[in-house]
Amino acid sequence: MTSYSRQEFLGADAQAVLLAASVGIVGYCGGGSHLGQQFAHVGIGRIRVFDPDTIEASNHPRLVGASPEDVAKGRLKTQIAERVVGNVNPAVTIETYNSKWEDAADALAECDIVIGAVDDYSTRDGLERFCRRNLIPYIDIGMDVHTLDSEHHFISGQVIQSLPGHPCLRCCNYITDEKLDREAERYGAAGPRPQVVWPNGVLASTAVGFAINLLCPWSPERRGFRFLSYDGNEGELVTPALVRGYLENHVCDHHPPTELGDPLCDIRSFCPYQQVESSSRSGFLNRWWMRLLNCRRETV
Ligand SMILES: [Zn+2]
Repeated sequence: MTSYSRQEFLGADAQAVLLAASVGIVGYCGGGSHLGQQFAHVGIGRIRVFDPDTIEASNHPRLVGASPEDVAKGRLKTQIAERVVGNVNPAVTIETYNSKWEDAADALAECDIVIGAVDDYSTRDGLERFCRRNLIPYIDIGMDVHTLDSEHHFISGQVIQSLPGHPCLRCCNYITDEKLDREAERYGAAGPRPQVVWPNGVLASTAVGFAINLLCPWSPERRGFRFLSYDGNEGELVTPALVRGYLENHVCDHHPPTELGDPLCDIRSFCPYQQVESSSRSGFLNRWWMRLLNCRRETV
């Protein structure tokens, strides 16, 4: 029996909201495994995990809950997700898809929030487009290790929250056509990138906080677009100046309202966020979000 008494500050009906919620995790390795474990602990009702891969020895140092036996038997990462989530919280419904997310798109479309913990820009780009079209908040996490000199390295990363009607991964230049082109040219040539467990933990934990704040807003922070840049050497997560300034009132033209949403659920009827006076935005965002959520539940 689980007691949620220490997280009652999330709201009187928080556990009911969390229990009714469905979170999609795309990619279950370094970042995704932290996500699954934490969403199970906090009491999310339904967790859907999308990953086609089996665990390899090089995954073990950062896949939370994985064992040497998993590696020896070449188990699917989704099998590890089922075991970890089931052990942490049997009340959670865990559904796994051993495929690319595109091959289980109907299941992903039913999620209330999607978090991408993937390696490449093209997958992120596709995920964000899919989430925009289906009116689903998308949260992206990722990390990189850069070589400074023969002995030293720099760990960077990001957590980005992308909501329909708000700036996107392209607005902040995290995804550009040039990056996608370079990635496509290198495809197959680039070896495995360096990854370690602790930055994944920081970034995934922050993403869980973003997701819970959307479902059970406990914080006054109500910006639709959130971008935290991670400096793993200093141990800092900061909002870049670009986001604080330019993007605060930026209208995204990469995903116009006419391209958003299911035809049965027209986002234009929700009064776009940008039309609201900035002074009343913080209260408005939450109401807007809840109406979206309710509409999606009625139409999905
Ligand atoms: Zn945009």
